[in-house]
Amino acid sequence: MQAMIVGVHPLAGFDKLLHYRVPVAMGASVAVGSLVRVPILNGMKLAVVGEIGAPRDFPIDRLKSLAQVVYPFPSLTPDLLELSRWMSHYYACGLDSIIETMIPAAVRRGAGLKQEKLLVVAQKLSAEELAVLEKRAPQQARLYRLLAEQFRPQAKAPVLARLGLTAAVVNALIKRGVLREESRRIERVAYTDDHAAGELVAAMPHQLNAEQQFAVDALGAEFATEKFGVALLLGVTGSGKTEVYLRAIDTALKAGGGVVFLVPEVALTPQTVARLRSRLEAIAHGQRCVVWHSHLSEGERLDGWLALATGEARVVVGARSAVFAPVQNLRLIVVDEEHEPAYKQDETPRYHGRDVAVMRAKLAGAICVLGSATPSLESFANVEAGKYKLLQLPQRVDDRKLPYIDVVDLRLEAAKQRTLPALSGKLVRAMQDRLERREQTILFINRRGYSSSMLCKQCGHVEGCAHCSIAMTFHRTDDTLRCHLCGEQRTAPTRCPQCGAPDIRWRGLGTQRVEEAVRRVLPRARVERMDADTMSKKNRFREVLSHFRAGRIDVLVGTQMIGKGLDFPNVTLVGLVDADISMHIPDFRANERTFQLLVQVAGRAGRGDRAGEVIVQTFTPQAEAIQFSRHADYAGFAAAELKLRREFHYPPYRHLIQHLFRGPNPEKLKFFAEQWAKLVEKTLGDRVELRGPVASPIEKIKDEYRWQLWYFTNGVTKVVPELMRLRAGFAWADDITQLLDVDPVNLA
Ligand code: ADP
Ligand code: ZN
Repeated sequence: MQAMIVGVHPLAGFDKLLHYRVPVAMGASVAVGSLVRVPILNGMKLAVVGEIGAPRDFPIDRLKSLAQVVYPFPSLTPDLLELSRWMSHYYACGLDSIIETMIPAAVRRGAGLKQEKLLVVAQKLSAEELAVLEKRAPQQARLYRLLAEQFRPQAKAPVLARLGLTAAVVNALIKRGVLREESRRIERVAYTDDHAAGELVAAMPHQLNAEQQFAVDALGAEFATEKFGVALLLGVTGSGKTEVYLRAIDTALKAGGGVVFLVPEVALTPQTVARLRSRLEAIAHGQRCVVWHSHLSEGERLDGWLALATGEARVVVGARSAVFAPVQNLRLIVVDEEHEPAYKQDETPRYHGRDVAVMRAKLAGAICVLGSATPSLESFANVEAGKYKLLQLPQRVDDRKLPYIDVVDLRLEAAKQRTLPALSGKLVRAMQDRLERREQTILFINRRGYSSSMLCKQCGHVEGCAHCSIAMTFHRTDDTLRCHLCGEQRTAPTRCPQCGAPDIRWRGLGTQRVEEAVRRVLPRARVERMDADTMSKKNRFREVLSHFRAGRIDVLVGTQMIGKGLDFPNVTLVGLVDADISMHIPDFRANERTFQLLVQVAGRAGRGDRAGEVIVQTFTPQAEAIQFSRHADYAGFAAAELKLRREFHYPPYRHLIQHLFRGPNPEKLKFFAEQWAKLVEKTLGDRVELRGPVASPIEKIKDEYRWQLWYFTNGVTKVVPELMRLRAGFAWADDITQLLDVDPVNLA
């Protein structure tokens, strides 16, 4: 008989396909996608089976054998394996690092499954038999009686503990054939504490309105084709997109399919998770819905993963990496808030969760639904190109009005008052008004532009970090200056370090300064601040939100963290304190980000019965991003912005690949970057357009200088493998590191 041979992709730094012989005893449990252990060099390494068989005339005699099959079912579905190959060509990284991303560490470790033993009554005793047992073995009788009274099998350990019995009693009953032991995996359910806290939200389906029904029907038709397709659900904030997703999920599950539901990490608040989960579990007829995010414990992660890989659960709701969940027979992927930059991973592999979702759907022949009130221009351009189907929900449910955005011109405000206050007169009056009416206010600070640096009024000196080329941030709580890039920290000076003037003031608006301003103008208001500093404790976040919901806070000050998924009916005023800053960052997406921010922020207002008001403070009221956002005019904004992008040949009309070089010596770095650029120009000049190399906007981080080179191209998978090949053959200096970022979202 011919021996069974498999080709495997080893993990942990071995980016190649190696062949092994499969011992006969393991043959039955090996399939494409199986996680196995193989001997490499002198050790054992994890690997994933990539193919069964070997090339013709392969010298199989000297092959080593597989050492172990870790799980008796595949760890990667066929579509995931295919996806990993595509990703490695697209995102310029080794297959091993992608597979490691797809299979969570807890699973790779094959962490011992937590099992519990159940006691099952195998044979009922008659009254006489029981009476005999009472006399001969009273302890056994006690145990039997207790178990026989229960509807369900009981866990062994707690029962024995309660009755004060030993395992010997159980064994005796097993020997008699009266009891049987069964093993069951213990499921740890994330967020169980929230069920207990009574935060459970009503989980009944809504009667769809006409537009929702139209979208649901269109998705149903798409689904019926049983082919790959992408739909962009463009629905204003509060238009009921979730309800549409849930109906689509229902359809997929009824057809026996599996579902991946992606939401941005920040949206995975206990409240949304609880709501989604109970709805999904209702749809799935009590089947478990797996929740997937970065706060899970190892055990929770393993449990969830196993439930999906074994087909025990068919739905997963989670953040970015849930796109790799081993869902069987995948039929639907939903990407909510698809425009969120958080879908992009900022470490290797630098993939974009949305784009990977579309690709996975394609490989699995599934439907992908992308939803947003402010879709990325990439997705919208795909609609215009006829690749995605557009579905729209132009109205809020129950015809609740979209709030009007009132723009305050800070230039006029600055002229009126001598120093610039954090809050304009208009915003203060509006907040006062809310306080009197016992309604609530949310004030947003633009986190991307978050800066409260030290600026000397006399000499204009800005206190910067000695290791990074950015201004330091002032923290009033402990009077320190901190660098948000390298963590450097020192006591804040009281006089200007440059000219000695005592007149040092704080430029820009941190959350702290806005909080203080609110306390000053509204001394009676109950104010709470919510940002990364105050919210480092996980429970604190939930606590503040639940106080806010209960009306124990009047004004909530925070960054975008107070984002999607939070629906506060009593919030009738939303203020955006500093709309401009995100337009001044060195990023061609600055307008898009600003528009998205404004529309999303406005969407937080007036979700209840009362109309909402939104006040935006800005130095550039005439900017298009601001003007189009006033009426949530996405189509208008997209048309204007896409026109610009086309003129400059920027994404989405071409792809951008960013090549970043880092090193301690700026001259040397520049030299190598330039030599490299020449080589690329010569070899790939017909396929890419180069920009740079130039110093990065943030030139130095942690004493390392940074230079960057941009490649614009129409065909990423044609260029990336070439770049990797060239890069491997180029004589880099030892102290220079570099990385490729395909479709980068953060250009600083
Ligand atoms: P979006 O995600 O589009 O911003 P949501 O899906 O969060 O909007 O829905 C907003 C609110 O409207 C939710 O509280 C939801 O329960 C409710 N809702 C959704 N569909 C309907 C409907 N057809 N009738 C009444 N309320 C609805
Ligand atoms: Zn620094």
